[in-house]
Amino acid sequence: MSEPVLLLNCGSSSIKYQVIDMATEEVVASGIIQRIGESESTLDHDFGGSSRHDSLGFPDHAHALAHLVKVFDEVGPKLSEVVAVGHRTVHGGEAFRETTVIDDSVLAKLRELSPLAPLHNPPGIAGIEAAMAVLPDVPHVAVFDTAFFATLPPAAYTYAIDDELAHAHGIRKYGFHGTSHSYVSKKVAEVLGRPYDSFNQIVCHLGNGASISAIQRGVAVDTSMGLTPLAGLVMGTRSGDVDPGLHAFLGRALGIDLNEVDALLNKKSGMLGLCGATDFRDITGLINAGDQRARLAMDVYLHRLVSYVGSYLAILGGVDALTFTAGVGENDALVRAGVVTRLQPLGFRLDEAANAVRSKEPRVISTPDSKVTILVVPTNEELAMARETKAAIG
Ligand code: AMP
Repeated sequence: MSEPVLLLNCGSSSIKYQVIDMATEEVVASGIIQRIGESESTLDHDFGGSSRHDSLGFPDHAHALAHLVKVFDEVGPKLSEVVAVGHRTVHGGEAFRETTVIDDSVLAKLRELSPLAPLHNPPGIAGIEAAMAVLPDVPHVAVFDTAFFATLPPAAYTYAIDDELAHAHGIRKYGFHGTSHSYVSKKVAEVLGRPYDSFNQIVCHLGNGASISAIQRGVAVDTSMGLTPLAGLVMGTRSGDVDPGLHAFLGRALGIDLNEVDALLNKKSGMLGLCGATDFRDITGLINAGDQRARLAMDVYLHRLVSYVGSYLAILGGVDALTFTAGVGENDALVRAGVVTRLQPLGFRLDEAANAVRSKEPRVISTPDSKVTILVVPTNEELAMARETKAAIG
């Protein structure tokens, strides 16, 4: 018996979706709607070995989802067979510590949390409302990016600011990419054949967005993203950590307001700001061509990453596994080698041949004498969301 679950990931101008049959955990259908709000929106839908491309104007998420339902009806699979819809929800604040079945009170609470994630939560809510309107008879479930980090101890999540202010506004470290860190860390336990709660690990999720987590005997105890997904590692277009005084400095120096500073640090910084490129294939090409900006960008990226690994080694009191995942972590052997070379004095040893292998399979890339097992584990956020969704509906 098939058990199809629809997964929706609504961004400000896009909707990514998959249908996964939970009886087999196979992807049955997938697609993406792009440029919502523009005159030429597009839909690409794959099902049963064939693809469909539509070019239309969708003024908002509701219109885009209404069209998507039509495409499912015409092309398949049948949405009437879907047993649940899982919605990627970026910020769960302090209210949501786990995957939650959505009802009116959950929706109301999500709306209250929007100021914490003004770029991410409103499109997510629009997607939930539209999907509930077109699929009213199946359970809808919110899967939170923040939930895996609900276990962070107060010492790790508290910012050293006025505590009344922090409590009044829910200002603290929340962490993001939790679905990926959770999926990957559990897969590491499987690959190593060890109980999840029997060892310490560090997971590096290095994609266009990037974050790192410290997991102590199966419990997340620290992570690099904070109140927002801007903190921590250097990313494609995000600065990661900067001196907090930079915001006021830029405001004064450029005469721009805080929203403009925020946009500068989110969209025009990171690798893009440092060397004009965000894709690590392009950055490696630039480095090979002798581009000094790209070389420095890579050095800054690796320096930040290694400083977090060192900090988490201290917080965990020792680590058994270091894992790379997401677009850069899974594919870029040079980045992995750059990290491990810098950690060599601490006993990390890379098997260079294993590191050079390109594969979609989880794999160990350290030598047997490495003090820490180093792995590459491809992430699968959709499958993790589908499992969470299935578990939430019982
Ligand atoms: P993600 O956000 O996880 O989809 O990761 C996207 C990023 O992965 C891209 O911006 C690239 O920088 C990086 N990436 C993807 N494929 C490769 C590859 N073959 N080699 C190096 N980096 C890659």
